[in-house]
Amino acid sequence: MSEEIIKEEKDREPKKKKVKKIRSYPIVVLTVFYVVLFGSMLVYICNYSSKNKQVLLNNNYNTRQQILAKQNTRGSILSRDGDVLAYSQQGEDGKDVRIYPYKEEFAHVVGYASNGKSGLEALTNYYLINTSAELSEKVEYDLEGKKYPGDNVITSLDVKLQEVAFNALSARKGAIVVSDPKTGQILAMVSKPDFDPNMIQEQWESLINDNSGNAMLVNRATQGLYPPGSTFKIVTSLAYLREHPDEIEKYRYSCNGRFTYDGESISCFHGENHGSVDFYSSFAKSCNSSYANMGLNISRETFNRTLDDLMFNKDIPVSLSHSKSSAEYNKDTTSASVMQLSIGQGTTGVSPIHMNLITNAVANGGVLMKPYLVTEIKAADGKVVKSYSPEKSKKLMTEEEAEILTKMMVQVVENGTATKLKGLSYTAAGKTGSAEFNTFTSDSHAWFTGFAPAEDPEISVTIIVENAGSGGSYAVPIAKRIFDAYFGVE
Ligand SMILES: [Zn+2]
Repeated sequence: MSEEIIKEEKDREPKKKKVKKIRSYPIVVLTVFYVVLFGSMLVYICNYSSKNKQVLLNNNYNTRQQILAKQNTRGSILSRDGDVLAYSQQGEDGKDVRIYPYKEEFAHVVGYASNGKSGLEALTNYYLINTSAELSEKVEYDLEGKKYPGDNVITSLDVKLQEVAFNALSARKGAIVVSDPKTGQILAMVSKPDFDPNMIQEQWESLINDNSGNAMLVNRATQGLYPPGSTFKIVTSLAYLREHPDEIEKYRYSCNGRFTYDGESISCFHGENHGSVDFYSSFAKSCNSSYANMGLNISRETFNRTLDDLMFNKDIPVSLSHSKSSAEYNKDTTSASVMQLSIGQGTTGVSPIHMNLITNAVANGGVLMKPYLVTEIKAADGKVVKSYSPEKSKKLMTEEEAEILTKMMVQVVENGTATKLKGLSYTAAGKTGSAEFNTFTSDSHAWFTGFAPAEDPEISVTIIVENAGSGGSYAVPIAKRIFDAYFGVE
């Protein structure tokens, strides 16, 4: 209101001098026109710059980045306990050199900062190249002829868990995601084959021209799409639960190692005959025949609603570069394809991080917390510039549904395919998968996704070991090593 009054006052003023001013009217008009034009351009540029500051700065060709690089030393990336995962120091030629003390171990998640940028180096570039140093500090740096220190990025990454996961995957190809279902914090993320980010410039040509199919630069944890195999039975179970809420206790199926419908067959893993199974033991023993049977008794609408709720065929709330998982059930989908879909085979593809998010929602009473890696941005003197708190992303399922799925995942450990996790000082829950990717040779990827303690989950783990064999034999022991490290079991 008061602003309007002031404006009116100002509007009235020129009228008094109207006669005097009238001869210069065209000049006034032109001046006003240019002031308005210039002003609106300035507003536009300022708006554009502030809205797109990060985009502008992350543009490799943007000279401002080069100016900032000359003015500031790129900040460091640190673990949750303050271990330095990446830092810059001046080389002999006076140019800054980026150093990664853990070499290959954090290669994909921390990323690299030359020859383009990846991982956290790309995600947090804006903060790393800018400085929040106080003016008085800047003066000191100026006097010493030093660059200003860029801001530091504090992450949720846990060096101990990352090391265990990295060593557990050993020379195998694959990926591991470890997170906290209650907060969404990512504790570890491993992808193999890897590369040494210290050598990125020297090895760049061989890394990008590699024809072996190793794709070392790809972060398999977020960008890799794999057939989910039996880990997808979490999804099918949820859809079946929704279709038949009052019938799961009554569900019975008699497995003879093979399910045939309309001339198409599905076999249980290694043709195993599971005999009489109910809803829970079908899951614990991972009976493909029972799941093919269930799948055909779920309507397309319910299956699709469940796929949609669990974020298939759409973007997931992950800030690192990632792939979109896909699972199809349209009106032309044949019953044979529905059978394949129900056991996580066929055309279905999922990223390990996506499987981890579904697992986290089950562990957290149906609510998915937004996954995040960066907890704080700090100035070099330790002053907090920005901090990030746990944030609810969305509810993927009801609390009751999450409870039933948890109960089923505990059964997998108690008397199913993950008994290597049974009888420990903590109660684990999970689902294994042996995802066939070559129907002729039956070669399979080993999966495990689960959490602990089952009654009050603190940590979740999702593992894929490429071309390893069964999840129970190859992925579960890795999960055990990670859980053991977390719970301090020697
Ligand atoms: Zn079976």
